Amino acid sequence: MFSRKISRRSFLTTSSIFTLLLGLDWKRVAAYAARMGPKKDYPTVIIGAGLGGLCCGAYLAKQGIPVTVVEQRDRPGGYAASFDRDGGKYRFEVSLHGMYAKNNVVERILEDLGVQKELELVQLSEVYHLRSPDHQISVPQRDPEEYVRILSRHFPAEEEGIRGFVQEIVGIACEADELHQSGMCASLLFPFKYPKMFRVRNKTLAGLLNRYIRDPKLQTILASLWDFHGLPPSKLAGLYYAVAKGECLRNGTYYIKERSSDLSFALADVIKREGGQMLYETLAQKILIEKDAVKGVMLTTGKILPARAVVSNASAAHTFGSMLPKGALPKEFSRELKTFVPSLSSFIVWLGLKGELRGKIPFCGIQTVTERGPEQEYASCLRGDVEKVPLRVSLYDNMYAGYSKPGTSTLRVFCLTGYGPWRKFEKDYKAGRKEAYRKEKERWAETLISRAEKEILPGLSSMIEVREAASPLTNWRFTRNPGGAIFGYEQTLNHAYIDRKDNRTPIKGLYLASAWGVPGGGYWGVLLTGQMAFEEMMEDWGSPIPALKNRNAIIHSQKWKT
Ligand SMILES: Cc1cc2nc3c(=O)[nH]c(=O)nc-3n(C[C@H](O)[C@H](O)[C@H](O)COP(=O)(O)OP(=O)(O)OC[C@H]3O[C@@H](n4cnc5c(N)ncnc54)[C@H](O)[C@@H]3O)c2cc1C
Repeated sequence: MFSRKISRRSFLTTSSIFTLLLGLDWKRVAAYAARMGPKKDYPTVIIGAGLGGLCCGAYLAKQGIPVTVVEQRDRPGGYAASFDRDGGKYRFEVSLHGMYAKNNVVERILEDLGVQKELELVQLSEVYHLRSPDHQISVPQRDPEEYVRILSRHFPAEEEGIRGFVQEIVGIACEADELHQSGMCASLLFPFKYPKMFRVRNKTLAGLLNRYIRDPKLQTILASLWDFHGLPPSKLAGLYYAVAKGECLRNGTYYIKERSSDLSFALADVIKREGGQMLYETLAQKILIEKDAVKGVMLTTGKILPARAVVSNASAAHTFGSMLPKGALPKEFSRELKTFVPSLSSFIVWLGLKGELRGKIPFCGIQTVTERGPEQEYASCLRGDVEKVPLRVSLYDNMYAGYSKPGTSTLRVFCLTGYGPWRKFEKDYKAGRKEAYRKEKERWAETLISRAEKEILPGLSSMIEVREAASPLTNWRFTRNPGGAIFGYEQTLNHAYIDRKDNRTPIKGLYLASAWGVPGGGYWGVLLTGQMAFEEMMEDWGSPIPALKNRNAIIHSQKWKT
């Protein structure tokens, strides 16, 4: 399946569907809005207050659409959240280390929604700092040429290839941003307007690297952001990696001061300010449909929220597998869904430390790679070989002064893990029997702390005052994402970026706005998916061309044929 070649025709057919919509065109939206009649006739329920759902909800609410967001938890954000320990002495970040948020679609979304001015984005000191057995490399912010120079000092014989690779991915990221700005109506022009993206549509990251780089150690270093997407180079779509890494190199990575939850609360506030409702501690159970169109959402309390549209920020598996009535989906669609795989999950240890680390180690984030290379490391993650998985340590106090309370520091140790090693605890965990699970979680936490102490921060354990950990099952509990997946579906060649499961679904009025839709996970991805779902809804409601309304039938008949 992964080796399926994307033919020119297939790519154009599927991409054209999205490129029509990728750039938010306010003139078009205004024209749709003008044709819709009273907005009160478009009640919309959003299931889940993760960033994708919040972003879509905020756009809709600003158009006057009556929006109700239902969220199982007591706060907005999904993974974009923080939590306090020790009576508020420590405030831990759940997910964000860095996001691309300047000079790109994220900045434009935050401006559109009016939250840009409420948020302070701080640039990290480096994209990331990498430690391999033979090299230590800090990836510089917003200076691709300097990155080429640094790598060339470590690998002089590869200078030409390094320059070629970096230029290629930065060029792809530039094209992608242009695509996100302008969209494109004439799909046949795609190869001419976006030649760099088109050229790599069939390449995995491994294929892209092989074109430029011979030294496997250098390949490992250049591929080291693979864990940000949860797939090794042999499986990860090269186009997606290039867009992401190219964007980091050209526009830098940022953290949200004070915490990522500030963004979540700011978006929830927009929804409320514009007349929408946020219903917390409210679990959606069923999406109700009638004559192939949504008509509402039933909560676990039995209450029904009538709706003309439902936007699901919940996982695709939960949305299609347990919330829709059986048989509601076309057979081919259900078959296709089964071929997509949820991404890896994470194991996280948060540490509240006595003493101030700020400035003592000069990086915001340190990542380790081994000589085993990303393919072996990925296999270790799948197996849950916690002694061997690559580590990421976030030193949040280096992001801005005053991150932690005086005299303390806040640190996070993170690794990827498959769900396999945790599956055996699932049944008992869900039934509240957690003894064996807790033992295993403790073993993982201990191992990661002692590895971080040995490999990165000598003396770490003597500083620990507060400790918390989260496994894939914790992720599941807080987000309901299957297997605790953190990036939605995997970004494989046959299902990546713009060539991904549509945010419009085959059910009229049901949309996805989450890491499971187009273009995928990460803060950048889910904010963009929220914006795209919004524009698709407006088009479905207000397009003057009947054939464009509810194009899901057309989309699916085209997509599945290719
Ligand atoms: C440890 C970690 C580190 C990460 N680091 C980064 C990073 O540095 N940079 C980056 O860009 N990305 C990072 N990510 C990825 C990023 O956080 C996610 O891809 C993104 O936040 C997912 O957003 P989402 O909109 O898909 O919703 P989610 O965050 O998955 O939230 C879904 C929401 O839906 C709710 N829900 C589900 N079902 C129901 C229901 N039936 N009824 C009511 N509510 C429901 C859940 O409670 C949840 O609030 C990281 C993720 C993790 C876990």
